[in-house]
Amino acid sequence: MTGEDLLGALDGTAARPRAGRPASGADAPEAAGPHRRECSRKGCRQDAAWRLEWNNPRVHAPERRKTWLSCDEHRDWLTDYLRSRGLLKDVLPLD
Ligand SMILES: [Zn+2]
Repeated sequence: MTGEDLLGALDGTAARPRAGRPASGADAPEAAGPHRRECSRKGCRQDAAWRLEWNNPRVHAPERRKTWLSCDEHRDWLTDYLRSRGLLKDVLPLD
């Protein structure tokens, strides 16, 4: 029984995500700040019309949501980008 207790304690420690260190997504397009409503596609400066919500289970807690903003033109591109990696959660109109 003591062995199981030890395993349980180790498991509990490992399950806690480390907070306070924002992960800078190396392969992510330019992140838009919360005050900008520009498309998140690199190099695009158009106004965003869509909000893409996503989560990377390897980096984020399951309930965490990252948001990319997208113009009409790049919504499909960004949606495909996230969906092909299994990260996409939701696509919502921005207004
Ligand atoms: Zn765009």
